Amino acid sequence: MYLKGVGEKRSETLEKLDVKTVYDLLRHFPRAYVDFTSPVPIRDAPFNEPCTVRGRVVKKLPPARIRKGLSIFKAVFTDDTADLVIVIYNAEYAFKNLETDREYFLAGRLTGNLLRKEMNSPQIYPADISEPVQPVYRLTEGITQAFLRQSVRNALEIFDRNIYEPLPKEIMRENSLCSLEYAVKNIHFPADSHACGIAKRRLVFDELLTLQLGMLMLKSRSRRRAGCPMKRLDISDFYGSLPFELTAGQRSAIEDCISDMTGDFPMNRLIQGDVGSGKTAVAAGAACFAHKNGFQTALMAPTEILAEQHFETLSGFLEPLGIKVALLTGSMTAKQKKLVKEGIESGVYSVAVGTHALVQKTTGFYKLGLVITDEQHRFGVEQRAMLAGKGDDPHRLVMSATPIPRTLAMMIYGDLDISVLKELPKGRQPVETYAVTGKLRERVYNYVKKYLDEGRQGYIVCPMIEESESELQDVKSYAKKLSEGAFRDYRVGLLHGKMSSAEKERVMGDFKGHMTDLLVSTTVVEVGVDVPNAAVIVIENSDRFGLSQLHQLRGRVGRGSFRSSCILITDNATEEVRKRLKILSGTSDGFRISEEDLKLRGPGDFFGSRQHGLPDLKIADMSQDTDVLRAAQETAKSILQADPGLAEKKHAGLREQVEELFKRKLSDS
Ligand code: ADP
Ligand code: MG
Repeated sequence: MYLKGVGEKRSETLEKLDVKTVYDLLRHFPRAYVDFTSPVPIRDAPFNEPCTVRGRVVKKLPPARIRKGLSIFKAVFTDDTADLVIVIYNAEYAFKNLETDREYFLAGRLTGNLLRKEMNSPQIYPADISEPVQPVYRLTEGITQAFLRQSVRNALEIFDRNIYEPLPKEIMRENSLCSLEYAVKNIHFPADSHACGIAKRRLVFDELLTLQLGMLMLKSRSRRRAGCPMKRLDISDFYGSLPFELTAGQRSAIEDCISDMTGDFPMNRLIQGDVGSGKTAVAAGAACFAHKNGFQTALMAPTEILAEQHFETLSGFLEPLGIKVALLTGSMTAKQKKLVKEGIESGVYSVAVGTHALVQKTTGFYKLGLVITDEQHRFGVEQRAMLAGKGDDPHRLVMSATPIPRTLAMMIYGDLDISVLKELPKGRQPVETYAVTGKLRERVYNYVKKYLDEGRQGYIVCPMIEESESELQDVKSYAKKLSEGAFRDYRVGLLHGKMSSAEKERVMGDFKGHMTDLLVSTTVVEVGVDVPNAAVIVIENSDRFGLSQLHQLRGRVGRGSFRSSCILITDNATEEVRKRLKILSGTSDGFRISEEDLKLRGPGDFFGSRQHGLPDLKIADMSQDTDVLRAAQETAKSILQADPGLAEKKHAGLREQVEELFKRKLSDS
């Protein structure tokens, strides 16, 4: 409201754009620009693409009233290479202002044909305009481009009188950055596209630097004291009792955990490993170590199926060593829950595996020392913090099956240390991957049958179907069709998200126990399900999934020593889909796949919207701006090395920016 032209009503409307202050307005960056610096001759202007031309008004045609509430205004322009008719709907005011013989810029899309070119509702500016590149902002009802542009101009004046520069000089020099003043002016009204690029780079740098500083400070803040100090005790009986030899990666990850938990600060570690790399065994090792030190472990899984599975696996590893494991899920009866909870509270159980129910405040632990979350990208930073709030500042271990590029991991898990499981256990064979169209479906079925005949099991996955999406196969009727048709001689199970947890568990149990041969399923099998005898997976409508998700699904097979296959069916074989699926058949390296996925879809999609729990970024795009990202990370590290709390005077501006960015995130949750 302190801006000229912004009253109470407009300021309320602006709030819808998240603009509450003059500062916010300056950070309401353009989503695009109209560039008048290089207009094209009307003769050469392309059809149906955005373009800018320059011409003078030859004549204005009489307005046509089409019906009540719809008037059409037309005017003829020329630039002496060709003529152009512009069509304006209803905006009588804009039409009236056009002066015959005066020159204007027109920006829009050309329609019509070579003999009669038209431009509908173009943006019109006098050719003597002082800012040849005009910003285009995201709007909301009641706010126009013209109004926003004028308001930003006014805001820039205020800014001019109060210039500040949050970055120390040497950092600007080292990273070849322009001043904030230049950046803010030129992001809104750039002199040309070069200036715009320079401005953007500076603002992206600022944003990523601020985010990285914030994440690193969060990490150091959690390093208060070890709430659950542990002693270095021997766990060779654990190693000895495992049915297999651990990989070098698994061993060193467990070592990392042990040295964290015996250190001066609470552990805050991420185990990153591709599907099938054996993260559960690492969790078991850490839990065993905590138990020997007299502490309990909580393991939280995103779904009941996974909680159940972890419970079984951990019991298998730990019960022989006399370590009692409990399962706690939302679908248990009140009586069962009560019993288990009592066991946890009294310390009978050393390890508690569960879903969110475990997080609920009602669950008390006897002596919680370690909190493990599996498949962490399904949990937000807040949930992570909430679990950590239980007990006396317990150690935290996060297991992620989504391999993400290192730079991005540093940003998203900047508050965590990272161990990577690089290799898969010995004896694994790469999953042969084929992409085919639906025409080959019968052949695919025969191929699957060969596996089943050899005693293996298989999955057929199709995306979860809403009733309304009639063009897709409903998973229920699809399963019915298969079990009565192509697979009538086999035992077919059905699993989908709308089943009760008890039903799901029964179906999964049957499949694990090889009571069924083929499991027709929606994506509920996506994460983590482990049935080593399953060796073939068919994915219907595979174009509907992201690459990382397909890689996860594919990871359901090839977990034993059998040769396995993954068949991707799509009827939507566009060039782009083909390109994506080809990446998948070309490599089984999850890191490479996620990098490609990131390039194709951006980080938002990658983690499911907002699930990574980071503050919203206004201008930076972590998948595109990777060079700046790296530079910002280096800078953040060296700044904090010299000044861990950003307490020095020259860092006051940065400190303010960090607080601003993270305050917003906290008040969102
Ligand atoms: P993920 O990392 O995908 O969670 P899991 O922990 O489910 O993988 O392990 C995948 C499979 O590999 C399981 O059946 C597990 O028992 C087995 N496994 C884990 N570690 C090893 C190993 N070192 N050698 C052989 N098999 C292993
Ligand atoms: Mg797993």
